[in-house]
Amino acid sequence: MSIVEGKYSATMDMWPLQSKEMTRIHPFYDNLKEGRFTTTSCRDCGTRAFPPRVVCPECLSENLEYVDLPLKGKVLIVTEEEVGVPVGFETPLIHAMIELDDQLTVFARVMNCKMGDLKEGDEVKLVVYPVDPLPVDGKKGAINLQERVFYAFEKA
Ligand SMILES: [Zn+2]
Repeated sequence: MSIVEGKYSATMDMWPLQSKEMTRIHPFYDNLKEGRFTTTSCRDCGTRAFPPRVVCPECLSENLEYVDLPLKGKVLIVTEEEVGVPVGFETPLIHAMIELDDQLTVFARVMNCKMGDLKEGDEVKLVVYPVDPLPVDGKKGAINLQERVFYAFEKA
């Protein structure tokens, strides 16, 4: 059985190639591997955006820095999917809109809970887990496996 069984779908990962050579938002994944949940903040206008950006969505500045986000949040809205779940996922697939602080909400998967378990107002915490490495072209035709991680939340 694959380590991603029931945990991960590529359709939910917009940047499957996580290394410096492959994506300009690689610091997000580097930080995630250390258990930090981060995003970009604009040094010029102060706008934070999630997911992380390479250009500020407000002022188009490229003068961005990575800032830490809270590892816990509060559930605002829950969706529970019982049918039409992507291949490899357990049923139900539970997602929530999660308020991290008074300015930032994220939409994310909530793992390890059953139908009806998760309610508005519940506290959830970040979970970082490994996903199957992806083969990438290396030097002289070599194929390297790129280590990858992804995130979800679970009840705190
Ligand atoms: Zn800005």
